[in-house]
Amino acid sequence: MLLSHTDTVVADPNEWQVDPWSGELREGEIWGRGALDMKGEVAASAVAIASLAREGFKPRGDLIFVAAADEEVGNDFGLPWLCQEHPDAVRADYCLNEGSGERIELAGRAFYLCSTAEKMSSPFRVRVNGRAGHASMPGIADNALVKAAPLIERLAAYRPELRLEGEAAALVEAVAGEKLEAAQALELARELDPFAADLLEPLLSFTLSPTMISASERRNVIPSTCEIVVDCRLLPGQTQADVEPILREVLGEGDYELEWIEGRGGTRSPFEGPLWDAVQSWVAESEPGATAVPVCVAGFTDSHWLRESFGTVAYGFFPSRYMSPELAARLIHSADERIAVDDLALGVDCFRHVAQAVCG
Ligand SMILES: [Zn+2]
Repeated sequence: MLLSHTDTVVADPNEWQVDPWSGELREGEIWGRGALDMKGEVAASAVAIASLAREGFKPRGDLIFVAAADEEVGNDFGLPWLCQEHPDAVRADYCLNEGSGERIELAGRAFYLCSTAEKMSSPFRVRVNGRAGHASMPGIADNALVKAAPLIERLAAYRPELRLEGEAAALVEAVAGEKLEAAQALELARELDPFAADLLEPLLSFTLSPTMISASERRNVIPSTCEIVVDCRLLPGQTQADVEPILREVLGEGDYELEWIEGRGGTRSPFEGPLWDAVQSWVAESEPGATAVPVCVAGFTDSHWLRESFGTVAYGFFPSRYMSPELAARLIHSADERIAVDDLALGVDCFRHVAQAVCG
């Protein structure tokens, strides 16, 4: 399956240099909302499959094109609905989707990132309890907002224990040429390239980012409760039950309740087998000397629905060579999103190769 989604996040034309819905071609780049995330890949998948069909390519089994809806909001109208209501249409052994494909250079060698795993989005809420009162007499109340402050600081200051395993270990070994400890790997990444360190660090532990807070709705009322929402991402294989005792220890004793809001994603596929070999052989042919390396991505994509429903081996791989990964990361979901035409062609070439290698 070549999987993509056709919906995008919103765009505010005032922030853009071009009309975000124009698809304008400028100096070898196509500008517009969704160029990178991910109408570019929709188009490349369609062209790859259509061109193979025109050439009379007969796959062993089915080669499936899926352009799904509702990935960005995730109200279960997109791929989860297809998996539930039309499993026969979307059941696949192998799938390429969004998620990665960046070309990075480290220690003079080129690597193409292929995401084989995703962290679990696992936000939680901390509800701090106090006692309401009139704000003119602070002494009579127990201000939940003030009590929340040290808890937020503790969450922000906490440094989880680093673990180097799975995809991250394979990635580090491919780059370093030897097995390293987590701390050594991070140090090496910092030496090589600050971007590599930014990329590696969230793969070595779960992460915590307090992002939302709500307390009193009136200036003159001291709040009896204060709610903090923390964005938390677990490593694949890690569970909320593993992490909760750690969070309670970090927060310490206090008058609060901790509650998980949800747990989504956190799935992985093995980085071996026909799809892995096909990605690897495309990289080797397309750029001699370069290697594909597995990564775990911090966000989750539609891949997890396929992994959970059918045990699909699903990777995020849409190669990009002509736009720097730093720039692309800044443009996704942001103003002036655009894609290099040459990267679209690279994507078509890659999908054709992989389809022929896996189902030829
Ligand atoms: Zn996307």
